[in-house]
Amino acid sequence: DKNPIISIIGNGGVGKTSFTIQFCYSQFVEEYDSMIEESFRKQIEIDNEILIIEILDYHYYDEWNNRIKQKIYEKTQGFIVVYSINDKYSFNELENYLNEIYKYKKVNDFPIIIIIGNKNDLEDERQISKEEGNEFAIKHGCPFYETSAKTRYNIEETVFTLLREIRKY
Ligand code: GDP
Repeated sequence: DKNPIISIIGNGGVGKTSFTIQFCYSQFVEEYDSMIEESFRKQIEIDNEILIIEILDYHYYDEWNNRIKQKIYEKTQGFIVVYSINDKYSFNELENYLNEIYKYKKVNDFPIIIIIGNKNDLEDERQISKEEGNEFAIKHGCPFYETSAKTRYNIEETVFTLLREIRKY
């Protein structure tokens, strides 16, 4: 299928919904009332091709049972795994999210993952250096960007890089 499904995962509060809304609607909404599972669709043009991408944005992720995760992970072609640069805890959790992806994807079904450090506009509150983020991503063989869902910094770059990776397989 040429219309890719992307899942955005990471700790609560790192900006997953804000990222998705910024990408899809070019808006930053401070208070967005969202439901447990949401799916956003956007038509984009990439390398002279029109695609409709679907982004799945989950909440209460930790409380979910394995059956639901399995279902979601199987249909996902690319993962955006998010921490925020002002939240060390969210960075420390990255490894767990990656392990889950590897666990639920089938063995020969190579998962495509991009790591992002969001809230890069909050320089004063930074707890994770850009180098630390980059090193973590290199160690896991993933592309890496710092982003801001507030200023739209690197939002499109992230999604487009992921889509180009997906297309390689
Ligand atoms: P989620 O739980 O991962 O979906 O996170 P949300 O998208 O709900 O964002 C959590 C909070 O962080 C909200 O108050 C957002 O307005 C704020 N936020 C999200 N992304 C950014 C960002 O890039 N910069 C700043 N300054 N705040 C952000």
